[in-house]
Amino acid sequence: MRMNTALMDEALIIVGAGHAGGRAALTLREEGYSGRLILVGDEPHLPYERPPLSKGLLQGAMDLAGCSLCDRARLTELRIEHIAGNPVSRLEPQHHRLQLADGQWLSYARLLLATGGRARRLPQEQTNLLYLRTHDDALALRNVLRPGVRLVIVGGGFIGLEVAATARGLGCQVTLLEAGSRLAGRVLPPVISEALLDLHRLHGVDVRLNVALESIDAEAVQLVNGQRLPCDLVVVGIGMQPNIELAVAAGLDVGQGIRVDAYLRTSAPAIYAAGDVCEFRLGGLYQRQETWRNAEAQGRHAALNLLGRELPFETTPGFWSDQYDWGLQTVGVMTPLIVSRVLPDGGLLLFYLTTDGHLQGACGWAPGQRVAKDIKLCERLIAARIPLAAASLADPDLSLKQLLRG
Ligand code: FAD
Ligand code: NAP
Repeated sequence: MRMNTALMDEALIIVGAGHAGGRAALTLREEGYSGRLILVGDEPHLPYERPPLSKGLLQGAMDLAGCSLCDRARLTELRIEHIAGNPVSRLEPQHHRLQLADGQWLSYARLLLATGGRARRLPQEQTNLLYLRTHDDALALRNVLRPGVRLVIVGGGFIGLEVAATARGLGCQVTLLEAGSRLAGRVLPPVISEALLDLHRLHGVDVRLNVALESIDAEAVQLVNGQRLPCDLVVVGIGMQPNIELAVAAGLDVGQGIRVDAYLRTSAPAIYAAGDVCEFRLGGLYQRQETWRNAEAQGRHAALNLLGRELPFETTPGFWSDQYDWGLQTVGVMTPLIVSRVLPDGGLLLFYLTTDGHLQGACGWAPGQRVAKDIKLCERLIAARIPLAAASLADPDLSLKQLLRG
């Protein structure tokens, strides 16, 4: 294990006790950092993963402990000082210090910003209007999703689709409104958007595309086209806003997120960023990734570089979604050249290729968790850089393992 010993006794501080921040703290200890380690969060909870919030936890099949990255005893054992419910309100990079909401100042040798994001909100505030980003949001929603409740969901992205599936499972009547012409249109190809639409309609969700909201009141959602949708509850999932304000006020370079170089270093000395809030170069373009996989990978990676390893961050992006009894998985990047494989169970695998036949990305959609294995093999095919024939990829009888063996 290589370690920059000069750092051993200095405080490392992580701002944001979510997935990326929590993973970074645990990794720092796993990698042998023995100095003072402070994890500052604004939520009252231990660091936890968010995917179950719209799935298992919302269904009532899981609790917070099941989503947490570790328990309190482990934090204590690892001497990770977790400051909860006390957000960082001010950052002074020139003095290597920050202030908490309760007025306390803390000095750091190195700092990680892992402040994630918050739900984008509609201008109006109403008691029947709910969002989903945190554990407490999920509990509030779970308490009101009862059989027969008339639920309108605004937004046909992942929050909207996963909440729709869970709410149907709980016996709610669900109408889903999407402003665009297809579901999850920014991140998924049209054929998968179509498949999602079919599945949700099959499960009784009234999906409406190309709709514009006029207003929401205590009893209904009014659309610009004149339609009025009576409802008991509205859930809004119209995207997330990265928590960049602290970094902006501190004078860091910020675009759509906190900008970092190849080592996840921000423009300020000794400050790194990771997770949803981090804007990094991928394929030459600055972008943020709002995924579990990115929070996990960047959290780990930032920890190594906080210890002075100086490793460039390299990644193959990917995410998953579970809706009803179907699973979606993606890996890599999309290219215009797509080959489809129709699976015997009605599922679909899409392969994204370069013009010379190298796999760049893949997307799978099928009942259960079966595509997970295929997508793992696709990741290996991407890394192997073996030229692939379109006919072989399209053939459901030719296993991806065989292709990997060349
Ligand atoms: P977060 O997990 O948001 O953590 C950031 C933390 O920092 C938060 O607790 C925030 O409150 C805190 N914070 C902000 N400002 C301050 C401050 N000034 N001081 C102290 N603390 C601060 N991804 C997938 O790939 N698959 C899925 O199935 C999936 N499902 C999801 C379901 C839901 C409901 C949601 C909301 C997200 C889902 N995601 C999924 C996305 C994934 O959970 C996120 O990409 C991931 O949580 C990002 O981790 P993060 O640590 O960057 O941010
Ligand atoms: P999202 O995935 O960005 O989707 C928002 C959707 O709402 C888009 O389709 C958007 O359409 C639409 N929209 C925007 N304004 C609208 C309006 N006024 N009326 C109707 N539709 C509108 O965001 P999200 O679903 O809210 O998710 C929030 C965050 O949680 C994201 O970071 C997401 O990645 C994460 N999450 C991920 C998963 C997963 O990966 N499985 C699951 C849940 C949550 P346009 O694109 O046309 O604007």
